[in-house]
Amino acid sequence: MRRLLLLTSLTFAGFSSFSQSPLSTKIDQKSKSIEPKIIEWRRDFHQNPELGNREFKTAEKIAAHLKSLGIEVQTGVGHTGVVGLLKGGKPGPVVALRADMDGLPVTERVDVPFKSTVTTDYNGQKVGVMHACGHDTHISILMGVAEVLSSMKGDLKGTVKFIFQPAEEGAPEGEEGGAKLMIKEGVLENPKVDAIFGLHINSQTEVGKIGYKPGATMAAVDFFSIDVKGKQTHGAYPWSGVDPIVTSAQIVMGLQTIVSRNLDLTKAPAVVTIGAINGGIRQNIIPEQVKMIGTIRTFDEDMHVKVHKRITEIATNIAESAGAKADVNIGILYPVTYNDIPLTEEMVGTLKDVAGKDNVKLVPAASGAEDFSFFQQKVPGFFFFLGGMPVGKDPLTASAHHTPDFFIDDSGMLLGVRSLSRLTVDYMEKKTKK
Ligand SMILES: [Zn+2]
Ligand SMILES: [Zn+2]
Repeated sequence: MRRLLLLTSLTFAGFSSFSQSPLSTKIDQKSKSIEPKIIEWRRDFHQNPELGNREFKTAEKIAAHLKSLGIEVQTGVGHTGVVGLLKGGKPGPVVALRADMDGLPVTERVDVPFKSTVTTDYNGQKVGVMHACGHDTHISILMGVAEVLSSMKGDLKGTVKFIFQPAEEGAPEGEEGGAKLMIKEGVLENPKVDAIFGLHINSQTEVGKIGYKPGATMAAVDFFSIDVKGKQTHGAYPWSGVDPIVTSAQIVMGLQTIVSRNLDLTKAPAVVTIGAINGGIRQNIIPEQVKMIGTIRTFDEDMHVKVHKRITEIATNIAESAGAKADVNIGILYPVTYNDIPLTEEMVGTLKDVAGKDNVKLVPAASGAEDFSFFQQKVPGFFFFLGGMPVGKDPLTASAHHTPDFFIDDSGMLLGVRSLSRLTVDYMEKKTKK
């Protein structure tokens, strides 16, 4: 009865194409009933954060919970990753849900009873460890979703793969890690994943709100270095050498024309930044070499390729024109976090139904990055942002992610549990209807 009423009102609200799973009421009830437990988990993870590829205790707790639910569990995937497989009672697609598990080398300053006092040795420095990006909430939300969905296992039209991923913030130096390594180790295969969903809590978005963007939603990040080799000489006799400093200055200016002259900025923004430049030792010596390093942010694959090509062309050709030589190295870090457009359009109705139409907003692309993007390169994926800021607080005064004062109101997690659970069952409903 209640469901019929709800469907009628939704049709009038303009969601006529929106197909809602009959499991939605059950999801809401079950999620609400386990909310205190989810908050308790989150506070425990918050108090005991672990850095990327070192999420040993975190993984143990996750695996124990999944096993207690009767979920098939695989551990040690991509170092410390945990993968759970929940086979529904009915045939259907394979939906993957992902949560990242790593904390950061940040010393917590927030005065809460579950404050982290964990310290570690990080690249030779003693630092605090903190869940300063909110991944503790992601783990707890996904553990909650696992409990909700396994309680209705017999009615599920398909399979759910729970991916608890290490090292989203980057693996320690010299190690592989994160989404990329899990994919390499086959996390998207056996059974093959049809679609993947993920979320990120946000410290500057109010609890109860959801932000999303179809297409490019977070930037691709690359690292580059340029070594300019000239010919060392006396500073008073520049004609007898090749000056890599003047050449580098020309290269730095030349690189500015990539964004301003070579890219169609009506399509997407882009950034090319030189962050460091080093060369020379004394005022009257023209050095042999100058080294510079920088970062690239793009949101469009064609622009991404073009920026790489232009950096190499500009640097090598300017150097050549000066009689110098430029060695360009570009390292691809994270690809664009790209929300599959048909999937996003198909599923946003679910988010609006769960959060309330006015609480789901289109947001601009962010120049930060997410390694969820690696999953999206392989399968259609949808990644959205969940409010974690106390209601009524001014976002301008709320601390940013990765800072010692970063704070999440954990009452925001319930909406995350309901959203991911509903996205899963609604997706299954849509795919089995066709
Ligand atoms: Zn982060
Ligand atoms: Zn994060």
